[in-house]
Amino acid sequence: MKRLFHCLAVTTLALGFAASAAAQSTPYPSGNLANLYQDLLAKINAIPIYDNHSHPGFADDADVDAMAAPPEMSSVLRLQEDNPEFVAASQALFAYPYDDFKPEHAKWLTDKKKAAEQAGGTAYFDDLLDKLNVETCLANRAFMAPYLNAKRFHWVFFGDSFFFPFDNRDLAAGNPDMAVYIPLQEKMLARYKKQLNVDTLPGGLAGYENFVRNTMADNQKRGGVAIKFEAAYFRTLYFSDPPRERADAIYAKFHSGGVPSVEDYRIFQDYIFRVMVDQAGKLKLPMHFHSAVGIGDYFSLRQGNVLNLENVLRDPRYKNVNFVLLHGGWPYEREAALLTAVKNVYLDTSLQSEMLYPSQFKEVLKQLLTIYPDKMMFGSDAFPFNDALGAEESFWIATHTSRAALAAALAELVGERAISQAKALELAHLYLHDNAAKLYGGTK
Ligand SMILES: [Zn+2]
Repeated sequence: MKRLFHCLAVTTLALGFAASAAAQSTPYPSGNLANLYQDLLAKINAIPIYDNHSHPGFADDADVDAMAAPPEMSSVLRLQEDNPEFVAASQALFAYPYDDFKPEHAKWLTDKKKAAEQAGGTAYFDDLLDKLNVETCLANRAFMAPYLNAKRFHWVFFGDSFFFPFDNRDLAAGNPDMAVYIPLQEKMLARYKKQLNVDTLPGGLAGYENFVRNTMADNQKRGGVAIKFEAAYFRTLYFSDPPRERADAIYAKFHSGGVPSVEDYRIFQDYIFRVMVDQAGKLKLPMHFHSAVGIGDYFSLRQGNVLNLENVLRDPRYKNVNFVLLHGGWPYEREAALLTAVKNVYLDTSLQSEMLYPSQFKEVLKQLLTIYPDKMMFGSDAFPFNDALGAEESFWIATHTSRAALAAALAELVGERAISQAKALELAHLYLHDNAAKLYGGTK
């Protein structure tokens, strides 16, 4: 047996060698890697981007997200305010004339942004996309803003508030982060109720299900192209499949008062989640999931691990529902990438491109693009952090990082003779634009 294996191995090796010695991949890049990188980077800079995930808006616009930053949180090095790259971003975008964000200098930038906000119109953010060569951008916001051009910015609305119809005092008391998050979910649910002219919660579960389904359909009519869940911030991403009778009994008991146990609340949420998956399938509305580590020192890595979603993603009943794993599951990015083997599962690399430096993000992309390249998408997670450090600067950081890391990853793969230059550019187009354009149907 051992001998046979040896013979097979030798034969395979000999055949492979004879077929094409030049095509053999090698762990050591050959050729001039720096030139290869520069050449690919120039071509990659010319590819218009389709951004799968962002929060565009001015700093004082509370609708840029359905939640807010917790009272205390550790910040990774790159996202600390003294990162000199943010100054570089302002210089590149606005010809910012200073080398730091000292208050008297930052005022120059803040005034410029305030003036743009007061001027109104959609030109400011359109120009920003043009400067960054971003063609289309998904805007994950509570509601859209009149200053975002609907032709370029497509709305991704939130689904999490439907998880919280009951008395939430126990959930809000869980930790300081939840004390911030839960009231905002209640506010979001109240806004949806107003949108649908629902004064009080329906008396039965069927009525609540209708409210949820109708809100999703109405949001789609208002331009929504996907529904987003940041559920990982509030609960486990593992959703069980409870029978309707259990959810019905819990709803009947608590819809007009009373505090559910943690267990009852979770079961109800698991059930209503399944209703939303079903409706997303019917509406052909992709479902977005926050799938990476989150902000706040109480974010649970274990509960937020992307593998918790596996039972839903691999459920044949949902094969007509497109799922998108935002932030690519980081730091479980390999697990997330392997989950995209499922035909209807995709991922984006938003957040990673702001948090990781190009040399680190290069390693991620090198792996992702050699796993299922037709499932990987660019995302920025651009967000207005404060008056000076806006969505504008974070868009710049994310696009700069992604293009540089992509060029470096592909240069290495070409240099190692793993792929051809033509293939490298094909992968670049898929990742930066074409996969998303195909998923959401058309580019404009
Ligand atoms: Zn986000």
